[in-house]
Amino acid sequence: MSGPEGALDRGLARLRSRVGGVVLAGGAVHDEYTTNFGHIHVWRPRFLVKPAGAGDVLEVLKFAREEGLTVSTRGAAHSQSELGINRDGILLDMKSVDRILEVDEKGATALVEPGVVWRDLLARTMAAGLAPPVLTNNLSVTVGGTLSMAGIGIASFRYGAQTDQVEELEVATVDGAVHTCSRRRDPDLFWGVLSGLGQIAIILKARLRLRRPKGMTRTYYLLYDDLRRFLEDSTGAMGSGTWDYLESWCSPCPQGLKWVGGVRQPFAKWFFPFHATVEFDEGSPPDDGARLAGLKPYANFLVDDLPTQDFLNRLIPVFETWKRAGTWEHVHPWMEVVLPWNTAADYIEAVLADLPPGVQVGGHVLLWPARNSVSEVPLFMHPTTEYLVGFGILPAVPPRMWEAFRPKLDLASDLAIAYGGKRYLSGYVNFTAEQWRAHYGEKWAGFAALKKKHDPQGRLNPGFIRWE
Ligand SMILES: Cc1cc2nc3c(=O)[nH]c(=O)nc-3n(C[C@H](O)[C@H](O)[C@H](O)COP(=O)(O)OP(=O)(O)OC[C@H]3O[C@@H](n4cnc5c(N)ncnc54)[C@H](O)[C@@H]3O)c2cc1C
Repeated sequence: MSGPEGALDRGLARLRSRVGGVVLAGGAVHDEYTTNFGHIHVWRPRFLVKPAGAGDVLEVLKFAREEGLTVSTRGAAHSQSELGINRDGILLDMKSVDRILEVDEKGATALVEPGVVWRDLLARTMAAGLAPPVLTNNLSVTVGGTLSMAGIGIASFRYGAQTDQVEELEVATVDGAVHTCSRRRDPDLFWGVLSGLGQIAIILKARLRLRRPKGMTRTYYLLYDDLRRFLEDSTGAMGSGTWDYLESWCSPCPQGLKWVGGVRQPFAKWFFPFHATVEFDEGSPPDDGARLAGLKPYANFLVDDLPTQDFLNRLIPVFETWKRAGTWEHVHPWMEVVLPWNTAADYIEAVLADLPPGVQVGGHVLLWPARNSVSEVPLFMHPTTEYLVGFGILPAVPPRMWEAFRPKLDLASDLAIAYGGKRYLSGYVNFTAEQWRAHYGEKWAGFAALKKKHDPQGRLNPGFIRWE
């Protein structure tokens, strides 16, 4: 066959002859590979490759160089903008490179491939009495995916991001070279890959720190009716050294009807649940009075004891409910931001006043207290005050309503940045080239130089960051 189709078939045959894993032509791939959890962008790759191992990744890079194609890395595709998808190049589904190579009990580290899902790593390490210090809410995401983003969770106020927990990386650059890098060895590359959105290199292996948790957890279900009192108490809780995990969010009380955004809505007021959790050894439960001393919640209505492993898996039923309710397939334009402590309350109150409480359906309005000094990752951008507040509007929008909803989210994002916030980049991000520069600020020049050095043709994960 001659013409474009013939060239495509020949390309497919050549790629298949070099790669041990699965290779599909773009036209034959399932629609799920043309988008991600965001369901905002639909891009079809020319080829989809599920590599059987690192050797296949290197072959794909070689093929891409020869054919002048782009290569995008995809983990579990839980990101929402132009990430984990590819247009007319090669989409590398890294979930197939998923071995847990070693759990070093003495050194408390694990050596893993990037497609390992955190839930599986947790199960394996807990069998040895160890756990990753930081886990994201959703454990179905991959190591490669969160190490490219940051990976923050309810222990981040103590341990920083998942990217802070990396000892060493093995990565492949576009030229086909394999590098081992760490804080001491090739640190520029190490810190360019971590929270680097897959722009600099492809992660092939990661050595991750682990810790030894106690076997049980006790969680106090506190509720606040006042945002500023919650923020005050959460600073105290972060500084006290008392708590292992802090989790919070914004919850609308659907009492009667109230005008919100020009519409009468079943809603009276936002409340702020705050779950403070401490680990303990079986048989030595914490002293509740001592733990809660100094906190001033509106209510404390439940004390819940769970084995630590169950606690760390606690949100699986929530995500299952979203899937059963059908909202998993909706548009997910999540807007998360890390705010400086001093402007957080003003921003959050302004946004909540106009936020339809219906965003809770199949979604969430997140609030998380955080600290600056616990993270050293240069490309995980956040404000510089010691105490920080994460805030996220995480809606599931029916596709027909997306265009009407989009300006509200753009406004919330712009306002957050005007208040000194930094966007968390896994969500819906609609930055211009100028906004990308502003996001990275003084880190931009170094990041751009690293991109130019390791990926001068811009082959890796194009379309999200505007490098021009
Ligand atoms: C329900 C839900 C809950 C979430 N909860 C949290 C949370 O609590 N905390 C949090 O921090 N985030 C959270 N997220 C966001 C999510 O963790 C990030 O989007 C994360 O990047 C997703 O990982 P993934 O495996 O799906 O990666 P993908 O979305 O597939 O990819 C993310 C990025 O990683 C790159 N990448 C993937 N593999 C490699 C590799 N081997 N080498 C180089 N680059 C690679 C991709 O190119 C892309 O840039 C949540 C998302 C959802 C949908």
